[in-house]
Amino acid sequence: MQRVRDVLPSVRRDLEGLVRIQSVWADPARRGEVQRSADAVVKLLSEAGFKDVQIVSEGGAPAVIARHPAPPGAPTVLLYAHHDVQPEGDHTQWNSPPFEPTERDGRLYGRGTADDKAGIATHLAAFRAHRGNPPVGVTVFVEGEEESGSPSLSRLLAAHRETLASDVIVIADSDNWSTDVPSLTVSLRGLADCVVEVATLDHGLHSGLWGGVAPDALTVLVRLLASLHDDEGNVAVAGLHEAAAADVDYPPERVRAETGLLDGVREIGSGSVPQRLWAKPAITVIGIDTTPIDKASNTLIPRARAKVSMRVAPGGDAEKHLAALTRHLEQSAPWGAQVTVTPGDVGQPYTIDATGAVYDVARAAFRQAWGAEPVDTGIGGSIPFIAAFAEAFPSAKILVTGVEDPATQAHSVNESLHLGVLERAATAEALLLANLGSDGKVAT
Ligand SMILES: [Zn+2]
Repeated sequence: MQRVRDVLPSVRRDLEGLVRIQSVWADPARRGEVQRSADAVVKLLSEAGFKDVQIVSEGGAPAVIARHPAPPGAPTVLLYAHHDVQPEGDHTQWNSPPFEPTERDGRLYGRGTADDKAGIATHLAAFRAHRGNPPVGVTVFVEGEEESGSPSLSRLLAAHRETLASDVIVIADSDNWSTDVPSLTVSLRGLADCVVEVATLDHGLHSGLWGGVAPDALTVLVRLLASLHDDEGNVAVAGLHEAAAADVDYPPERVRAETGLLDGVREIGSGSVPQRLWAKPAITVIGIDTTPIDKASNTLIPRARAKVSMRVAPGGDAEKHLAALTRHLEQSAPWGAQVTVTPGDVGQPYTIDATGAVYDVARAAFRQAWGAEPVDTGIGGSIPFIAAFAEAFPSAKILVTGVEDPATQAHSVNESLHLGVLERAATAEALLLANLGSDGKVAT
């Protein structure tokens, strides 16, 4: 643990350097920044003592693979993180510039300070704490397009199957129960999205001449989108899967504090909070294309479209869920409006059977590093990497850890990393490498 504390200042500096790079893969204008970010990760891993470090790509964003070969008889651990980040959103809503890491009250603010450049920092800290020579093989895989749904990941896995093969996979891209209690994430929801377009007219019409007789597409779209939920806020699409969440207490005050629900705004859906977050489907309208208000005239709008995003409960099939959503949209538009649904991204949900020797070693490392028992949690978000990797390496044990906490605000403005959590997460990972190495039976 002292060794992790010793390397933390340098790791913190390196994390800040990474945060200053605007590696937003979703923004075509900043793809050069993603390349720069990959180069920076290569430099850090090489300096940390990895001998075999390379940038790879299969037509998508540059990813980085670094290897430290396993001593004879020892298992190999793959450490995953991603170096791309979400777009920063509205700069005026940030309390400090998004790409200038800034410390306030023990937290480091900036886009990617937590999601997921802190994952890279954790792996660096664990490796440096072992002075570049841990008792296990270590392969680091740092993806560059996770926030865009990992479109070329399966090609990367196929092209580098031998290089990435490992006994244990640590995915440091998830949340913790609190800043004092770690989580082991054991289930993730999947994702499916689509764009729905409705058309009612061949061209716009004067609303004074035809309003009240001919329907406008935006009103149709709004009614169609409203049909996706019942009055309580439960998803109202037929044929979706529901699982069962861990029985942990998630009080309403905590929900209110973590989400910043405005005064008077209530939660939606029925069932416990963990059930709704981790084990039920959710549907969100994430964008609409229509006439903007400053261009609005008294016209019946002929067509309008929306992007609809769905989270799929563990155990459900994301493709089938997308088909169910498509059916619902095609059949629910009022007044005979024409509906076209264009399918988008699909990522499968995932459930981990977190029992056995590797998980015992991991829980012991958590206990020692955090001084608290880890909580098995689900997560509402999706990490396409996990299902893809589990499929490619079915015998590997997967540990989903993370450096986030409930106040992190990943994907939102004012994202931040709790610096104490970084230390505890790095310590747990360093201990995990040590303990997997000291018990040769563990990974077999
Ligand atoms: Zn992430």
